[in-house]
Amino acid sequence: MTTQALTLDEIYQLAFNCLTKAGADQANADAVANTVMCAERDGSISHGLFRIPGYVASLQSGKVNGSADPQPEQVTAAFVRTHGQNGHAPLAIHRSVEMLAQSALQCGVAVLSLTHSHHFAALWPETEALAEQGLVGFACVSYTPMVAPCGGDKALFGTNPISFAWPRPGKAPLVFDMATAAMAMGEVQIAARDGHSVPLGTGLGPNGELTEDPKEILKGVLLPFGAHKGSAISMMVELMAGPMVGEAFSFEAGERDNNDGGPAQGGEFILAISPQLLGSDNWAEHAEGFFAKLEAMDGIRLPGQRRHKMRADFGPREVNTALLTKLYALCEK
Ligand code: NDP
Repeated sequence: MTTQALTLDEIYQLAFNCLTKAGADQANADAVANTVMCAERDGSISHGLFRIPGYVASLQSGKVNGSADPQPEQVTAAFVRTHGQNGHAPLAIHRSVEMLAQSALQCGVAVLSLTHSHHFAALWPETEALAEQGLVGFACVSYTPMVAPCGGDKALFGTNPISFAWPRPGKAPLVFDMATAAMAMGEVQIAARDGHSVPLGTGLGPNGELTEDPKEILKGVLLPFGAHKGSAISMMVELMAGPMVGEAFSFEAGERDNNDGGPAQGGEFILAISPQLLGSDNWAEHAEGFFAKLEAMDGIRLPGQRRHKMRADFGPREVNTALLTKLYALCEK
């Protein structure tokens, strides 16, 4: 695999140009390009430039509204609702998180229900943004069916990521963000593209057999992480990002999708909690003592640390050359 070095500005600009060329307006292209640049910056490459062809395809097919103008609505003191106007999720999230944070800072707890939106990104941008305001954040999203419930061999669940962020005054928040599938689909696609095997247990081939070959898994199904336990969490995500916010299950989103390679329409649930209002006065120091104990253990690192370390490097990032060729062509079309 050959790569080419791009600065963070070049990554942003390339993404922005592809998106505007495909019909996105400035606000939508800026929000998505920023999300993509932050993913490349933090080394979350399966949600960086790799996703641009899918974003572009969904604009070109007309499935996604590149001029969406989502406006968050304060439904009650502790409930914010945003209709995504069928756009890509980053603009709706960017505009909603501040209202959600203010609600949680006043009420102690607040929720955001995002509907009619197309999510194709990592979830840490939204939970981390809440933690940067001193709040505990939780978010989950469903997708289209790719994961077999534990014991089955047919896809019903999406890869259904969950993210949790804990505020650490004066430090980067603690954040985990993970698919509830044994491996995110983007990671399997990248392994297939780059000719790598994946751990046994990641998924089943088309005949229902366990396999380490990502190309076979792309023809078959993914499995949940942690057998029945991950399966239960994935089921929870289906309910919370589906009927609880007034949106579709993954299987319904899959049925109504036009399969253009871009993200299906679905919902997102985001929860924000103020430890300052709910917890004791020393909530932050108490948690820091716990993190210190954890980090003192051999072989342990905190989730999110890899990304935050990458973020401290402002230098260029290596991007797959074949992907870049594809993206330059998309800009010129
Ligand atoms: P990973 O398995 O790579 O990582 C999951 C979490 O575990 C991360 O927070 C990571 O932190 C942490 N972690 C990894 N290794 C260690 C370790 N050794 N010790 C402590 N913590 C560790 O993520 P996934 O592949 O499951 O998911 C990738 C992304 O895909 C996520 O951002 C997710 O939101 C996104 N996704 C989005 C979907 C969508 O529909 N929008 C669908 C499915 C997934 P760190 O980052 O610091 O390594």
